[in-house]
Amino acid sequence: MLTIASGQATSIGRVRTVNQDSLLVRSGLFVVADGMGGHVAGEVASRIAVESLERVQQGMNPAQSDVIAAVEQANADILRATVADPELAGMGTTVTGLARVAFAGSDHWLVFNVGDSRVYRYAGGHIERLTIDHSEVEELVAAGEITREEAAHHPQSNIVTRSLGSEPAPQVDAWVFPVEGSDTFLLCSDGLTREVDEPSIAAILEADPEPQRAADSLVRAAVEAGGSDNVTVIVVTVQSADGVPSGPNGDTAPRPTRSVGR
Ligand code: MN
Repeated sequence: MLTIASGQATSIGRVRTVNQDSLLVRSGLFVVADGMGGHVAGEVASRIAVESLERVQQGMNPAQSDVIAAVEQANADILRATVADPELAGMGTTVTGLARVAFAGSDHWLVFNVGDSRVYRYAGGHIERLTIDHSEVEELVAAGEITREEAAHHPQSNIVTRSLGSEPAPQVDAWVFPVEGSDTFLLCSDGLTREVDEPSIAAILEADPEPQRAADSLVRAAVEAGGSDNVTVIVVTVQSADGVPSGPNGDTAPRPTRSVGR
């Protein structure tokens, strides 16, 4: 028996004139998309991404391939929209999400990602980033050229290396792991992680386990810290009555295994 609760919040922030983030909260499917482009174009791109995922069949848990196909369809839909309206040329969006899927005959989580929005898992007092950013700074960190601390304030920190609205279509990262124990997931656009560091995010999740209040607190913290970008968060709490509870260090929770390469 699984009890899933969620809360979501978004803010335009203090600097931007439009909110180009979009989000989707549906039974067993949670998505954040951060649009990029001219004045309204980014907003259009992130909305197309969310609408494509909204069409994934409800009811029974979809297969992983159905969800990934919806992300790939979003890429095609965004490209088609830019052909139809030249004012939308160059628009794109990140997309990241958490979906309950049927895998090997049982209940699993799928985490998927294109771009630099993120999914975290918080369990047993420990925060863990599940996604890998597709960004220039992440590549510099991976190459050992800069530290993770330097990455946070790097001048190229806003350059993504994968986004929807690209040709050829970007590869979608995907991780699948069993639904077990009690977890909290956080999905967010970079407007959160630019302003609030991971220990502070963990402290907010620890202080308020109720997902809507946690979501509101996280967005408020990002806006108060500067609000230099749109900020969007979804907090999902999962209670599994028959699952294995996480240990004090979260170390009995299942480790996500990546099923698709970078
Ligand atoms: Mn952003």
